[in-house]
Amino acid sequence: MTKTNINIFEQLESEVRSYIRSFPTVFTKAKGYKMWDEDGKEYVDFFSGAGALNYGHNDPKMKEKLVEYIMNDGITHSLDMGTTAKAEFLTTFNDVILKPRNLDYKVMFPGPTGTNTVESALKLARKVTGRTDIISFTNGFHGMTIGSLSVTGNSFKRKGAGIPLHNVVTMPYDSFVNDGLDTLEYLERFLDDKGSGVAIPAAMILETVQGEGGINAASFEWLQRIEEICKRWGILLIVDDVQAGVGRTGTFFSFEKAGIKPDIVCMSKSIGGFGLPLAITLIRPELDIWEPGEHNGTFRGNNHAFITATASLSYWKDSEFENNIEKGSKKIFNFLEKIVADYPEIQGEARGRGYMVGIMSEVEGLSPKVASEAFKRGLIIETSGPNDEVFKLFPPLTIDDEGLDRGLAILEESVKAVVIGSKEPVTS
Ligand code: PMP
Repeated sequence: MTKTNINIFEQLESEVRSYIRSFPTVFTKAKGYKMWDEDGKEYVDFFSGAGALNYGHNDPKMKEKLVEYIMNDGITHSLDMGTTAKAEFLTTFNDVILKPRNLDYKVMFPGPTGTNTVESALKLARKVTGRTDIISFTNGFHGMTIGSLSVTGNSFKRKGAGIPLHNVVTMPYDSFVNDGLDTLEYLERFLDDKGSGVAIPAAMILETVQGEGGINAASFEWLQRIEEICKRWGILLIVDDVQAGVGRTGTFFSFEKAGIKPDIVCMSKSIGGFGLPLAITLIRPELDIWEPGEHNGTFRGNNHAFITATASLSYWKDSEFENNIEKGSKKIFNFLEKIVADYPEIQGEARGRGYMVGIMSEVEGLSPKVASEAFKRGLIIETSGPNDEVFKLFPPLTIDDEGLDRGLAILEESVKAVVIGSKEPVTS
């Protein structure tokens, strides 16, 4: 077989490409937590498609169901018509996920991406309340279309809109200013005082752990108080669980342990189970005031994704999967704290919750160097935060001890290489 010329991407694909710049190779195959490139080099995947592959690559049960469905000429495309695949997904999601958690939501299918569910949530919140503004939070990330960009913090991404982004007020996320400042007292003061210049918004939108914004985890108490504030002022609470959901932080929904019940929940990435595009917007039934067709879209009924999404929910039929995530996350977090303690040169801080964790380094440019050393050694990780100051660990939730140990060992070697490299005298 002739080898792919990697320059093809540079020649034929837009400059906008990003991940290939961090992982400069051509991948051919993947299974579970492993990926292989054309040279046959094996990689441990601690990236998981930015949270779209929580169950790893090519899960055998999902694959079997999908192949069987295709071979039987099951419906592939159907807009939002009725199909057996969709009915099974809706019923299983209700029985396995919503009912046991005492949650009552109608399921809306926006387009298949994260930004599609966010746009639908913002639109519905404005329609329901008749208000225009949204409160978003510092370092929040919600997607690349105009509405989602307007509630996203990152200035580089915002600038890409090319137009002013209106009708949004940004408030400080938990611990944004410093650990001592009560950011919610500050927020409430703005809602309370008619001279604040801040109108009562239609909704607040937040991530419980900020994925792109630097793996900042809001405390459960902060989330509970946000819910209280929203209730007091008649503001809708939108939780964007696109990245933190589907088990990433340890429970199916990232907000479960905080004991809150958002009015609207946005999900995408791993909801399809297999890495196939699918998004859902969960809506408290009383808020479901859409007119038929008012928020339409051609690709809202991805039946292949319904098949794999339904199969993926078998992981949640009992508590074994969650218990395993809890065990694994303790191990990962202990490891990260040990790295921070053993390598004081990196001026690090372990962050996150569940399998959504990382180390923030105060040393400028250190985290991207760790990610690049890791890639050379066969570990795929990405960076996060406004200055890429965090190296982020996102192993598949299905990873076994052997895979986890292997990835963590490569990570330690990579940190060591960067620390030693920074101490070597510069020779001319
Ligand atoms: N919300 C969050 C929290 C995300 O992390 C992302 C993607 N990283 C999005 C929305 C947007 O998802 P998509 O890229 O599928 O549009």
